Amino acid sequence: MTTQNNSIKISQSEKKSSSKAQLSNKVSKSISLEIDKNGIANLVFDLPKEKVNKLSAIVLTDFEKKLDEITKNESVKILVISSNKSGNFIAGADINEIKSISSEKDAYNKVSQGQNIITKLSNLKIPTIAIISGSCLGGGLELALACDYRLATTNSKAILGLPEVNLGIIPGFGGTQRLPRIVGLQQSLSMILSGKSINAKKSLKIGLVNAIINESFLKPQIDEFIEKVLSSKIKVKSKKPVLEKIPFGKSLIINFAFNNLSTKTNGKYPAPHYALEVIRRTYGKDINKGLKIEIEAFCELAVGEVCKNMIELFFTNEALKKDNGLEGKNAEIIKVKKAAVVGAGIMGGGIVWLFAKNDIDVRLKDIAQKAISIGYSQINKIFSQLKKIRKLTKYQISLKTSKVSSTLDYSGFNNRDLIIEAVIEDIKIKKKIFSEIEGRVSKEAIIASNTSSLSINEMAKSLKNPSRFIGMHFFNPVNRMPLVEVIKGEKTDDKTIASTVALAKNLGKTPIVVKDVAGFLVNRILLPYLNESAYILQESGDMVKIDSLIEDFGMPMGPFTLADVVGIDVGVKVARSLQESYGTRMKVAEILNEIYDNHKDLLGKKSKIGFYKYSKETKVNKNIYSIVSKLVKKNKIKKLHHSDSEIVDRCILIMVNESAKCLEEGVVQNARYLDMAMIIGAGFPAFRGGVLRYADNRGLKDIVKKLEDLNKKYGQRFEASKLLTKLAKEDKKFYDQ
Ligand code: NAD
Repeated sequence: MTTQNNSIKISQSEKKSSSKAQLSNKVSKSISLEIDKNGIANLVFDLPKEKVNKLSAIVLTDFEKKLDEITKNESVKILVISSNKSGNFIAGADINEIKSISSEKDAYNKVSQGQNIITKLSNLKIPTIAIISGSCLGGGLELALACDYRLATTNSKAILGLPEVNLGIIPGFGGTQRLPRIVGLQQSLSMILSGKSINAKKSLKIGLVNAIINESFLKPQIDEFIEKVLSSKIKVKSKKPVLEKIPFGKSLIINFAFNNLSTKTNGKYPAPHYALEVIRRTYGKDINKGLKIEIEAFCELAVGEVCKNMIELFFTNEALKKDNGLEGKNAEIIKVKKAAVVGAGIMGGGIVWLFAKNDIDVRLKDIAQKAISIGYSQINKIFSQLKKIRKLTKYQISLKTSKVSSTLDYSGFNNRDLIIEAVIEDIKIKKKIFSEIEGRVSKEAIIASNTSSLSINEMAKSLKNPSRFIGMHFFNPVNRMPLVEVIKGEKTDDKTIASTVALAKNLGKTPIVVKDVAGFLVNRILLPYLNESAYILQESGDMVKIDSLIEDFGMPMGPFTLADVVGIDVGVKVARSLQESYGTRMKVAEILNEIYDNHKDLLGKKSKIGFYKYSKETKVNKNIYSIVSKLVKKNKIKKLHHSDSEIVDRCILIMVNESAKCLEEGVVQNARYLDMAMIIGAGFPAFRGGVLRYADNRGLKDIVKKLEDLNKKYGQRFEASKLLTKLAKEDKKFYDQ
């Protein structure tokens, strides 16, 4: 964003004409207006056939007409705006309209219509009140901010927020102007820059709402409030924090927010930086000038690649929420009310915690009491973290913990709806457990495995009824990682798939259904990337440079740091199993085999030493360099110099190519699900939209050409996949399909 005042790029005449064109004659039946004999105008939002109210261009036009009616009617003394939707006031602007923005001019037309109408609301001569009895987000909150008063109800769904930065934009209907003026700089920055919502209680505390009224007695309380407003008995006290009132207070707050933001976004997400800059330039100044600056910034962002990527991700998320995992088919679902977990280790403990947190009765089995105690201490540890950050009270935790019981045999397994196995990664042990389980559970119960690499089809052979068997691959740590890969075997039936998908959603996770192939989806794509970085290390010897270039690309950490976090031993085991399945294209780099076979102390973070050393400070483990140079001599590995862009391309394009292969083989339903899995399961940067979206944006022709170069230089593992080559030839994209 440019900081000069003359930087609005669209001419004023252009804006006026297109703005009028935007106000179409179409009228929605989304808003009703009733004016009673006392002069109280009740304006109610209720979009037909929609779960939530959205501010589309048509709805806004209708809203403006209603405001005009109110202005003309001299009998109106007060306006009350509410919603007829249960749990929702207004969810925000229509994201489909933001998605369709094609140019800055188009963005200006769309957002200026909304901004002008909301300003019209704020300029009404009569008092205005918004009744917020559900989610009040984005444009919805901006509308409420333009009212003189806001009342939240006790409905637990009454949350308020400006989440625009999560879509790569900033509020454009005056949110950057009105929120700071109402709640002060500090609180508004915290809401706008994070995009996080707050509940009614917090809203009251910071002065965002004037009162909280009881959901069960709305009418008398609203009437009472109207009475007070009309008799001028309401006084709104400023809640601006003291810091803002002292000299330099504002700059201190802005500087603090800037530093905080730079650390969090690493400069990769422009929207919060734009929001901060808009607020810095406009806070405390003329609101009309401020609104212009807000629009200008909105328009620049709305046409940017990051915004387009974030909006695609929003729609992918929506699609996943509605998806039952059966690609359009329907099936009966088993609702899991009682579950069991076999294995009380890192994963088992985490999965048991997740069931308990979601109030599902869960039975934990292991082979030794000591192992069960370790499981319990892990469960308690996660709960106490939640208590520390006040997400749960001691009482709530004790209720949830009471959902967990344990056993050393299979007692209590007969009435479970689902059993998840999470014992050590050994197919013989797992198969034995499955046949033991099958004889002890009901015929309907689902049996799942949390394996990270073993074949679901192979393990299904241990069961008499393999149709109820499925993979349910949680990621570590279970309490923080949102992805669950749901792996359908050849014989898994629809009911088992749909029930597992529904369960994962109930547990607050994002399930993505994948086929049973080695590494499933995420590990199959991620491991070649870690392996490639190891090849680059043994050729060039510069581990820190590789990590820092990849971080610069946007990954949350470099490949060697990630290998240390995962555990070098765990990573090499998975890499070897992938080599076994996919052959030479996944041949494990010599340096990884060398560390695994001959330097058993180098496990990564868990042994405090791997590629890096972990004590108070993290330092490079220089011994890695001598291991590399000995290996280079012994195996006569060619020393090579790589440009920065080639290092990044080797690491990233190997993932693009493997992703294309997964899509080609139908491992996952579509490109957008694959992208979501890589973002939430492997940390691929969201601002790039995912592995395949990155490829689409860069251009598939360019990617294929680069892969051909890499193939010539480094070998067959870079041979472009059939799908990638075909799409590039046809000038198509992964997201076109
Ligand atoms: P872990 O070694 O921490 O725990 C394994 C547990 O299984 C131990 O408590 C052990 O006592 C118990 N166990 C062994 N044999 C048993 C039996 N016959 N009956 C009951 N319990 C038995 O292992 P983990 O890291 O929790 O991994 C468990 C599974 O989850 C593996 O299949 C692994 O591949 C998968 N997984 C692991 C991760 C990870 O990062 N650790 C991530 C995803 C999936």
